[in-house]
Amino acid sequence: MKDKARIKTMTFSELENYMTETGEKKFRAKQVFEWLHKGVRTFEEMSNLPKALREKLAEEADPEALVTETVQVSQKDGTRKYLFRLSDGQFVESVLMKYSYGNTVCISTQAGCRMGCAFCASCEGGLIRNLTAGEILDQVLAVSRDIGQKVDHVVVMGVGEPFDNYENLARFLKNVHDERGFGMSFRSITVSTCGILPKIRQFAEDFPQVTLAISLHASNEQIREKLMPVDRTYPYDKLLETAREYVKKTNKRITFEYILIDGVNDSTQQAEELARQLRGLLCHINLIPFNEVLGRGFSSAKPERVRRFQEVLQQKGYEATVRRELGSDIDGACGQLRAKKNEQGAGSWKQEA
Ligand code: SAH
Repeated sequence: MKDKARIKTMTFSELENYMTETGEKKFRAKQVFEWLHKGVRTFEEMSNLPKALREKLAEEADPEALVTETVQVSQKDGTRKYLFRLSDGQFVESVLMKYSYGNTVCISTQAGCRMGCAFCASCEGGLIRNLTAGEILDQVLAVSRDIGQKVDHVVVMGVGEPFDNYENLARFLKNVHDERGFGMSFRSITVSTCGILPKIRQFAEDFPQVTLAISLHASNEQIREKLMPVDRTYPYDKLLETAREYVKKTNKRITFEYILIDGVNDSTQQAEELARQLRGLLCHINLIPFNEVLGRGFSSAKPERVRRFQEVLQQKGYEATVRRELGSDIDGACGQLRAKKNEQGAGSWKQEA
């Protein structure tokens, strides 16, 4: 059987080409694009297309609509955690968070991950596959449709390493930004990376308006190397050098994410060391209370250590905030929903004992 055309992965002009190449009028692309970005799940619902075209598309094209497996809703703060099923049975997760400044959706870019960070649940089972641009986009569309509201911000901080799937990430960014569709401003999007340097440089070229977040998690090479295998390929000093180049090129502040793990990276000395490392770098430091993952031997830093760490950075003139824990009454963040589902045997891999 011929593979169906992945219609939500196409850019607007690719969709125009697709229409003309399959014998349709070019303007049909605009209609289909609009429908897809409104969150419509089937061609049948595209009521301004002729019936014959709807039927043809249903035969030949894939609307790349994810199936909602579960939604967990926090009674405390309205956070919604989604587990979506892809057409090949894989699972991805997305989270809707309600902040005073609007709705934020956290999305995934890969089923699994091959970065192997010691503290993260997403890499259990390794990388299964990259998501298509359509599957990345559809997380935003499906959530927006579910809540019946606009999504104001997108953070690419779910399962997977976005810069390990750069081409699909780039297509997604172009498509979600396209005014003929969802029309989200680049400034409302944040992409988080574990530090793949060539892609940070490319990102500065391609998307200078999108906010970049870097998972740093350590005040020096020795600690980072133990937590994040990527550090062996792209070492700490080079990462900070690249971050400085990024700021110079884009004039944009970088967000550094820093998980605080008890006894590993949460001391006052380490806060001081971090302040020295980042000197002169236009940045925001986002301190993240560690979300415990079973069997990794790490626990969350004590609240007083978190406060102290933040104070040290603030005293040195840094803007440092502690990430608010949303949805604490509903289980699993950071890849844990998907891991749990796969453990139950619904996916194609099982967590090792
Ligand atoms: N691969 C990308 C984006 C996904 S992870 C990256 O590394 O940045 C998004 C953020 O959540 C990263 O900063 C990641 O390090 C962090 N994270 C992963 N596991 C976590 C856990 N158990 N508790 C708290 N934060 C975690």
